[in-house]
Amino acid sequence: GCGICIHKCPFNAITIVNLPEELDKDCVHRYGVNAFVLYRLPVVRNGSVTGILGPNGTGKTTAVKILSGELLPNLCGFNDSWDNVIRAFRGNELQNYFEKLKNREIRTVVKPQYVDLIPKVVKGKVRDLLKKADQRGVLEELVDELELRNILDREIQQLSGGELQRVAIAAAMAREADFYFFDEPSSYLDIRQRLKVARAIRKLAEEGKAVLVVEHDLAVLDYLSDNIHVVYGKPGAYGIFSALKGTRVGINVFLNGYLPDENVRFRPYEIRFTKFSERKAQIGDVLVEYPRLVKDYGGFKLEAEGGTLHVGEVIGIVGPNGIGKTTFVKMLAGVEEPTEGKVEWSLEVSYKPQYIKAEYEGTVFELLSKIDASKLMSNLYKTELLNPLGIPDLYDRNVNELSGGELQRVAITACLIKDADLYLIDEPSAYLDVEQRLAVSKAIRSLMAKNDKTALVVEHDVLMIDYISDRLIVFEGEPGKQGKALRPMPMREGMNRFLANVGITFRRDPETGRPRANKEGSVKDREQKERGEYYYVE
Ligand code: ADP
Ligand code: ADP
Ligand code: MG
Repeated sequence: GCGICIHKCPFNAITIVNLPEELDKDCVHRYGVNAFVLYRLPVVRNGSVTGILGPNGTGKTTAVKILSGELLPNLCGFNDSWDNVIRAFRGNELQNYFEKLKNREIRTVVKPQYVDLIPKVVKGKVRDLLKKADQRGVLEELVDELELRNILDREIQQLSGGELQRVAIAAAMAREADFYFFDEPSSYLDIRQRLKVARAIRKLAEEGKAVLVVEHDLAVLDYLSDNIHVVYGKPGAYGIFSALKGTRVGINVFLNGYLPDENVRFRPYEIRFTKFSERKAQIGDVLVEYPRLVKDYGGFKLEAEGGTLHVGEVIGIVGPNGIGKTTFVKMLAGVEEPTEGKVEWSLEVSYKPQYIKAEYEGTVFELLSKIDASKLMSNLYKTELLNPLGIPDLYDRNVNELSGGELQRVAITACLIKDADLYLIDEPSAYLDVEQRLAVSKAIRSLMAKNDKTALVVEHDVLMIDYISDRLIVFEGEPGKQGKALRPMPMREGMNRFLANVGITFRRDPETGRPRANKEGSVKDREQKERGEYYYVE
């Protein structure tokens, strides 16, 4: 049964326990009978960055289409004019905004979510694309801020995911507008690049622009936003924008699953980050010792120190883009031959590559059944993996028709249901929302612990690294030229080493235990740097 919820019963992991009263009067748009419904809208404030935090499929893009004038909201009945919208928002912060929108006094720029699709519609050199976009005359500045100098003469078609992301962000920022919307600006970027992008976005607001950002990396969202809207609901069915919150309170409300001022519980449980001192202290038996490995591509050389892996542990792999993380994982997976050293073991390895392709002809169920049908029936796998990732809902879908986030969840599942000793998972969080990132992290941790297996996970999201890792392998060097992989280290040592390279310090939020980036040059930042404690692990 579904208790006191008033609309359709939610079947997902995200259960609305109760909804706000008199919600119907706040209905903004309904796509059709039994189709998705959007309640309430985010505010748009000049000179301010507003973060949006919530699951995929809850109406964030729909809201932006309305605020950019692309979609006239039907107010959940019949509506054919912006005058009615202005009337409906009388007394609301948005009334004035809609008046300007009606008079075409508002220009909007959108940085889209799926940057991988850009090369399909835009051809030519990066320089030409950016020059054409540069209505504000800020190109030189952006090229420096986002480190685009080396790729200006490249063809769009040749760019990596992270390069495409930064070009798309620069192109959006260069245009002249009143309202800028960035949909997931951090996908494919390393943490240093994420912070650079965050600073560039903040600068837009400091110049008086209104900025809205959807972001699923909570450390970045925290660093970037002045205020936050939490969006909740049932993905695909309905979404509700909360009132505007301060950034810290908004993120904590999201993790708590409870909006106190509206008295709405939108998730039946709280999300908490475990202090390391509360984690299991002892380390499992040795799984394997791997030797020093070198890979020389000519232009790029990686040297990886040898190390020991233990049964039951999860090791996070961290470092900048272009430093050899994927190359290292490929050598352990047996996909890439080392130039020096040999991976000689009898271990079964299961590998999820960084860039996944939907080339399989058939349904999700067929694909997963071919790997191991028994796991799809197993209660352990249902509870720990399949249900939390929403996989049964995808069984009948064709693999080549999945969205980026759906494909990612299927690829992670395909990797984890295979019987193996060692699981190698390269960047699992790309295109996943916060709820899904935590579900994936939990699934990996508990399957390794319960089955006495070992996982290596390459990841840039600091909260996910914190949540998932028992130890860390840190990569250092000069991106694109030479990289060094250090032996696996304990969390504190590894995090300090990694964050010192990035030049950023973190503290823990006392309420939720989540890591928060300190503002550069703040008292905490300076104190922690002096002590060499970049990461507060207690
Ligand atoms: P988000 O940006 O939060 O991921 P969207 O606003 O893109 O969410 O979509 C919310 C829901 O609305 C989705 O379930 C989507 O399928 C549905 N939707 C989007 N556009 C349309 C449309 N034109 N007609 C019907 N449903 C739509
Ligand atoms: P990361 O995963 O840390 O981003 P990668 O291991 O993917 O880094 O790449 C490290 C460097 O090696 C990059 O400069 C990349 O261009 C280069 N590289 C990767 N694969 C090849 C290859 N097959 N041939 C030549 N260079 C490569
Ligand atoms: Mg990589």
